Amino acid sequence: MAHTRQILLALILGILAGGAVNLFLPQWAGVLDTQLLTPLGQVFLRLLQFIVVPLVFCALVLSFTQVDRSESVGRYAGKLLMLYVLTSAVALAIGMGMAAWLTPGLGVDSAQAAGVEARDPTPLAQWLVGLVPKNPFEALAEANLLQIILAAALVGVAARQLPEQSRPLVSLLQSGYDVTLKILSMVLKLAPIGVFALIASVVATQGFDLLLKLGLYVIGLLAAIGAMAVFYLALLAITGARPLAYLRHFGEALSFALGTASSNATLPIALNNARAYGAPHQLSAFALPFGTALKRDGAAVLQGFNALFVAQLFGVEVTLTLAATIFTTGLLVSFSTAGVPGAGLVAMSTVLSAAGLPLEGVAVVAGVDRFTDGFRTSLNVMGNTANAMLLSRLEGRHHAAHPAAHPDSGQTG
Ligand code: ASP
Repeated sequence: MAHTRQILLALILGILAGGAVNLFLPQWAGVLDTQLLTPLGQVFLRLLQFIVVPLVFCALVLSFTQVDRSESVGRYAGKLLMLYVLTSAVALAIGMGMAAWLTPGLGVDSAQAAGVEARDPTPLAQWLVGLVPKNPFEALAEANLLQIILAAALVGVAARQLPEQSRPLVSLLQSGYDVTLKILSMVLKLAPIGVFALIASVVATQGFDLLLKLGLYVIGLLAAIGAMAVFYLALLAITGARPLAYLRHFGEALSFALGTASSNATLPIALNNARAYGAPHQLSAFALPFGTALKRDGAAVLQGFNALFVAQLFGVEVTLTLAATIFTTGLLVSFSTAGVPGAGLVAMSTVLSAAGLPLEGVAVVAGVDRFTDGFRTSLNVMGNTANAMLLSRLEGRHHAAHPAAHPDSGQTG
């Protein structure tokens, strides 16, 4: 909790400092950004990325080596996928509903759209084939979370069947896991500086001009993100998981996502918060990396909202077929959006081209993307962690009333 406050304070100070540089020392903004703020922010993000792969891999293999766990994993994955599709559909509907209601695209100058470059979408079949790792080291080196889950499942299940021979490997991974947790607690001490630098860099270089020009777009998108967050809190309340306890424990991961705009970089913190919350360790060791790879409510809200915005901007009539196309492709695209800054912006062209909307729309909103990205990422992390906690309740294994399952739970918080 104390850590959450520090991160939020760093966010506010970063906005103020960046704003002051942008307004009063604009000639310094570029140098400050390239020489100080961006390098500081990058160092911090890289340190976190350094932790993600060993933490996830060790935690998952250890989890798969436990007898009852590997049988449960198929059930976890099935239930999670069902929850993901249902809640992402709500996110998309909220995004599209908000855009239809506010009509942010009317009255915006589409001339800013010149010179956009569209990216070719990845075909779905190719994406599915790509989930299977062909080389475990490649999966680890590229931090491909879905491939890492599959690789860890293979190693863990095989190791379980050879308890004698796999003992050295299992104790090596256990020791790797403990050491990685220690590194995380060290890196987290730098979180306020890293978050400050990342936010100050955006505000100092981009200022607030574009935000004002696209004011209704930004307000509408943030309102839709907020509505989806309220939906999750209500869902937690209905299922008996106290929303305030959820916010208290996961506030650190949520505020951290706001500052870094990276779900991947937030994963170690989310895992840590889940332990402090009391979620069964083996459930979150699977569910959180799975969700970090797949679950993007922020991206779902963005794609629905943005596609309708572009249709309004270019005067395209929204028929039922067009709305259905936006809904379906937005849903699919949200699941394949990477957990890195700006991934939602890149994915926009897939939805727009599937819906036959002008790709130039991407360029209109590109300038404000970094501002909304943090909020989207926070919602992505909320969707991931809240669904994992819902699964925990469905499984009847929630122990929020008890202290964490892991001995060093909360040590970094
Ligand atoms: N930045 C987001 C994330 O890391 C993805 C997005 O751009 O929507 O989750």
